[in-house]
Amino acid sequence: MNAGCEPEFPPWLRPPLERLLGLSAEGQLPSGLLLTGPFGVGKGVLARAFLQRVACTRADDALLPCGNCNGCHAFLGGIHPEILEVTPEEVGKEILIEAVRGITDFLSLSHSGPARLVLIEPAEAMTVNAANALLRTLEEPPAGAMIVLAATRSARLPATIRSRCRLLRVPPPPVATVRAWLGDCHGSGMAVDEALAASLNRPLGALELIRDAAAVENWRQDREALVSLLTQDTPFPTVTAFRQCDLKSLIPRLQCLLLSAHYYLATGLHNDFGRLFDRRVLEAFARRLGRHELAQLSLESLRWQREADAPLNPELRCESMVLRLTNGNA
Ligand SMILES: [Zn+2]
Repeated sequence: MNAGCEPEFPPWLRPPLERLLGLSAEGQLPSGLLLTGPFGVGKGVLARAFLQRVACTRADDALLPCGNCNGCHAFLGGIHPEILEVTPEEVGKEILIEAVRGITDFLSLSHSGPARLVLIEPAEAMTVNAANALLRTLEEPPAGAMIVLAATRSARLPATIRSRCRLLRVPPPPVATVRAWLGDCHGSGMAVDEALAASLNRPLGALELIRDAAAVENWRQDREALVSLLTQDTPFPTVTAFRQCDLKSLIPRLQCLLLSAHYYLATGLHNDFGRLFDRRVLEAFARRLGRHELAQLSLESLRWQREADAPLNPELRCESMVLRLTNGNA
């Protein structure tokens, strides 16, 4: 691990990478591979390491690509003739049918190498039309074609697509493994343990918090909104604070706060996430709501999370969430 914080390849991704390279060496790669696992576990890192390793002309028996050969350079520059990456045009947007038609065109070109590889990430961002177009390619894949679908919420993919793919799950690594991997990383000034707790123990989320000042700012804003929820007697300052936040990061953190309060009531102890807040304030919040209400709110927060993608008015949504959360003490 170096001080500039470019950590080594995540050790929990080595076994699945070995497995993929083993299949490749045996000529047994599936035409469709569904790579799934929790958000921030490194599915994209794994998929790209695999693609680059296939492109690498100098890796020999090494697990990882060399990073210096023509194949690696072409891959890293996004111009490798046998590899195509398909992502939304903007983060959080959909993958449209035009992009999937591009895959069909790409795979129909004649090629010299042993395989043509496509990565779609996140695969659940495909529209229904895009998924239907992809299904036709998965049903009759051209020889040597492999399509890797990386998805956090694979249940959102049509069952017809899932059934055409071989499944490879990337389980979340133990926290101790991630802590060791992050080692003495620094940059943004955030300590490893705080970054781990604030990112809900998601390895790549913690790395981002350690490296990236904007991610830290986002965390501080979310934390401020949650502190307001814990401390304010009236809902309106909290509504204002929630409106400053990105609901996609705030809601999972809110869920962790509810879980931390529940954990305290059940055990009298504080979990990692709970320790990021003032102990007495969190305890008073937990007692005020009680276990039943905390469980109810956790359930409702799952619905809020699903709706966070929908194009509804975020201001109204913040208000209804906070009013529901403060119902008991309004
Ligand atoms: Zn190379």
